[in-house]
Amino acid sequence: MKIIKKKSKLKVALNSLSNQTIGFVPTMGALHDGHISLIKASNSRCDITVCSIYINPTQFNSQKDLSNYPSNLKKDIEFLKKNQCDIVFTPNDFELYDGNVKSCEFNLNKLDKYMEGKYRPGHFQGVATVVTKLFEIIKPNFAFFGEKDLQQLMIIKHISNESDIKIFSVPTFRDKNGIALSSRNNNLTKDSYRSATIIFKSLCYCRDNINKYDIVTLKNKVKKLFERSKFNLEYLEFVSMETMHPIDFSCHNFAICIAATVENIRLIDNIIINAKETN
Ligand code: AMP
Repeated sequence: MKIIKKKSKLKVALNSLSNQTIGFVPTMGALHDGHISLIKASNSRCDITVCSIYINPTQFNSQKDLSNYPSNLKKDIEFLKKNQCDIVFTPNDFELYDGNVKSCEFNLNKLDKYMEGKYRPGHFQGVATVVTKLFEIIKPNFAFFGEKDLQQLMIIKHISNESDIKIFSVPTFRDKNGIALSSRNNNLTKDSYRSATIIFKSLCYCRDNINKYDIVTLKNKVKKLFERSKFNLEYLEFVSMETMHPIDFSCHNFAICIAATVENIRLIDNIIINAKETN
């Protein structure tokens, strides 16, 4: 596995490949089996898999959140070696932003109006900025994103729909209790980790009772459930898969999305219902 820090060296390495398809998996590191499911999806479709590890400052809306973000590059590199990644790209801020660490302005077609976009202003402009920069350097044939970050996936699909890069989505990887794997789980105490099951349980409750109760009632029931938990419910939204806007009644293709916090650690999750394939 090649470990490359400089974009110039990465371009040289990629230019030397002839007629091989390139799959790209962007990450912020602190890798877990969820990330590896993206690497595997890329390996199964592409000749070469490139994974980037870069904690992108422009997508954080709090300095504290950025500095608390878990990082363990040595461990990540060993993990990637074991899982047949071909190239890992680990740029610094200067390599990607040339000394101007700022977001560009993208038209996100209002996909960022609710949920993460509402609670983390500027987050998706930062995500779109860094992904575009990475795409320009790597020029992959395919790029792989997790359904775990559903709104991000839909936004990346939107900004890529006129490019030659095909975006693939990969289902959320969960532990045996249903908790979605997340780098942020590293910051949870054991007790909070155990309590985090409430997030997926709430989603399953809504999915299983969607024909019994209306959305307002389901939201109230989940709110009550959280009042008895150490987690704070930030939002629970039922959204159209096309627009990522809230719906009042269940429709053909929608998702239930949730964000909750404990001890300043913010976790998100979702379930897609009656979905057309996201790929
Ligand atoms: P991150 O390092 O958190 O920025 O995530 C990098 C990529 O991994 C994104 O496309 C995420 O959606 C995806 N990802 C993170 N956690 C999971 C998971 N539990 N299952 C599947 N994909 C995931």
